[in-house]
Amino acid sequence: MERLDVVNNKERFEKLKEAIQDYLDVKDTIKTGIEDEEKIEYQKKKILSYFGAGENDWENYKWQLKNRIASAKILKVLLNLDEKEAQQIEQVGKIYRFAISPYYLSLIDPNDPNCPIKRQSVPSSLELVEKGELDPMDEEHTSPTKIITQRYPDRLIIKVTNICGMFCRFCQRRRLIGETDTHASLDDITDAIEYVAQNPNIRDVLITGGDALMLSDEILEWILRSLRQIRHVEIIRIGTRAPVTLPQRITKELVDMLKKYHPIYINTHFNHPREITKDSKRACEMLSDAGVPLGNQMVLLNGVNNHKYIVRKLNQELLKIRVKPYYIFHPKRVKGTSHFWVTIEEGMEIIESLRGRTSGMAVPTYIINAPKGKGKTPIMPNYLLYFGKDKVVFRNWEGEVFEVDNGQ
Ligand SMILES: *Cc1c(COP(=O)(O)O)cnc(C)c1O
Repeated sequence: MERLDVVNNKERFEKLKEAIQDYLDVKDTIKTGIEDEEKIEYQKKKILSYFGAGENDWENYKWQLKNRIASAKILKVLLNLDEKEAQQIEQVGKIYRFAISPYYLSLIDPNDPNCPIKRQSVPSSLELVEKGELDPMDEEHTSPTKIITQRYPDRLIIKVTNICGMFCRFCQRRRLIGETDTHASLDDITDAIEYVAQNPNIRDVLITGGDALMLSDEILEWILRSLRQIRHVEIIRIGTRAPVTLPQRITKELVDMLKKYHPIYINTHFNHPREITKDSKRACEMLSDAGVPLGNQMVLLNGVNNHKYIVRKLNQELLKIRVKPYYIFHPKRVKGTSHFWVTIEEGMEIIESLRGRTSGMAVPTYIINAPKGKGKTPIMPNYLLYFGKDKVVFRNWEGEVFEVDNGQ
């Protein structure tokens, strides 16, 4: 009988392997930035030579910020665009401005018409489609002070800047990106900190923007020090896309400063495996080594990552650089972003395709934001088939149905 068991098990292990064979067959065709390093290096050289700059400039985040590309003419040269596309970019850019760090620009593959990096960063005429709202989250009406949004009993966000290393074309806060780069005034930040100090129910403070790491180390340290003086503030979270769009921002000075104010958590925003490069990996590892746990908040975007294998590869590669996939957000219906919208079925299928087929650590929560700022709401594939008083019926990740006794 023992021998038979072994044979049965062997079949079972074959079946398990088969359950992910489809993914194993394609995963190498979805390249990370590390796997496509040669192309990225080539673009980097081209950009550096355009600016007459060198390696030291590239590694300097101030140089990266100062030289964000915000002109269609320069994009035309660096991405070999035709005249018509350059004109469209210029026209759309007047309505929704754009700015792309030289680093993030180097990730674009000019020969790929569907490049997921280009889709996230370069203006498209599709942004002129008149669908959606400018402020679907109604943030304007959930602000106890000018730069705070509070929707939950024990936590809130402070928006400290409207600057980013790159303005995402799907940005939910397009209305705040405006004409010019501005940080919140020190008075507004002081008011926000004062509100936190006055409200002992606030135990979790999120510093975001824009991109919170666009503040100088000095201002950021002043905010962190002030928050740490408030006894009821337990954790501080920083929202930043810098590890993805401007990894040079993660310096030794920055991480040495952050680690004085623990517990600090950082949530970043990778949307595609191509964004995992040796530079973004280094940035994440420096933060982790300084004791900052990293989470990822992906936005599900048509034409960028609305595919189960892309998301599986992204999440597995993120775990390799010690970033835990935290949320997948259903795209908000922000005006000028309708070409990124996906159906809720697509999102549910992606989540369902992850469960069982990859580490539980690689399965984030899929979230839809209720309109009018009514809060983050999880969406789950349905594993619960029947709820009886004494018995509950489920299906597992492989579709097998099972029954569990309920209660005593
Ligand atoms: C997203 C968000 C938070 C944080 O939500 P968590 O589910 O705790 O990560 C807090 N406040 C506001 C206003 C938010 O939009």
